[in-house]
Amino acid sequence: MPIFEYDCPDCGEPFEKLVRLRNGVADKVACPSCGSTKVKRKLSTFAAKSSGKSSAFSVSDSSASSCSTGGS
Ligand SMILES: [Zn+2]
Repeated sequence: MPIFEYDCPDCGEPFEKLVRLRNGVADKVACPSCGSTKVKRKLSTFAAKSSGKSSAFSVSDSSASSCSTGGS
């Protein structure tokens, strides 16, 4: 089972959690400090530095969808 790093937006406390995967989907994780379930998973460090070709994963491409709407 993988250990993921999380950040809690409520108390700002980073923590690590051993997460069970069900059908490739991680179980819900709650902050151990305040119990909030709005925690955000951080990008795993090994994935961030192992390959640079998947950098588009973290970049929002929604802005690129409407770039050619100029009429003259
Ligand atoms: Zn918290």
